[in-house]
Amino acid sequence: MIYTTRFAPSPTGPLHLGHAYSALLAFERAQAADGQFLVRIEDIDQGRARPEWEALIFEDLCWLGLSWATPIMRQSERLDAYAQALEKMWSEGLLYQCDCNRRDITEAVGAPQEGVPIHGPDGVIYPGTCRNLHPRSGPVPQNVTLRLDMHSALRRLTGPLIYTETGIAPGDVDVRRTHPIETMGDIVLARRDMATSYHLSVVVDDAAQIITEVVRGADLADATRIHVILQAVLGLPTPDYHHHRLIRDVNGKRLAKRDDARAIAKYRSEGASPQDIRVLVGL
Ligand code: GLU
Repeated sequence: MIYTTRFAPSPTGPLHLGHAYSALLAFERAQAADGQFLVRIEDIDQGRARPEWEALIFEDLCWLGLSWATPIMRQSERLDAYAQALEKMWSEGLLYQCDCNRRDITEAVGAPQEGVPIHGPDGVIYPGTCRNLHPRSGPVPQNVTLRLDMHSALRRLTGPLIYTETGIAPGDVDVRRTHPIETMGDIVLARRDMATSYHLSVVVDDAAQIITEVVRGADLADATRIHVILQAVLGLPTPDYHHHRLIRDVNGKRLAKRDDARAIAKYRSEGASPQDIRVLVGL
């Protein structure tokens, strides 16, 4: 199978040095393997995605010297694929409707037992309040929050849940040994205002693009466990994962989208060259 990786930015702000590192690294790994580098626009959050940011992303990537196959994949055009994936999980009784808001959840986990983690890769671990409240039959409920019943999903899956890490701490990771129920819980797969979630879309799209290695920041390593479980539930292949070090600012703080001081566009306007960016990110 031909090596295929992708850079998957969300057009909700300017690309900064951390994105440049991710994109350059992915591009170079594809070149070294004589493979393919793809770009995917992750714009499911239509409230925050802007065409201006998307245009700037392409401009920055071209300026950095990257090229990719077209047409690109855009998540806002893939809602049918996500609906199909939800349909499959719903028909297997693995999803349930959740009516809790953030405050309900915070209150419910107000007094956690000692030693029980409160936060997972997706924020506060859901205490399961709505798990047995609504019937799991009939058509997929629309415009509601749908959660994965993690316990049922893991009971259903009998095979190994393993992925190969090729970046930081390389080796095989056995997801079952990371206690998914306790450390992740029933994660959200569809939201009231958006019939999908980051986790669901990324898994469906990595499979559709036949990605063989996902290159992304180490901040997403914990969420990869969710992705491997979803791949197994949906019968999709698990790619390798190359989680890379994070680019930090001079104070050691992780760069955020709103950290416009590190925006590639800013460096460009100040006369930096693509080579300067490579040096700045340690390539
Ligand atoms: N869209 C995500 C971001 O901009 C990237 C997710 C991924 O690479 O899996 O952080």
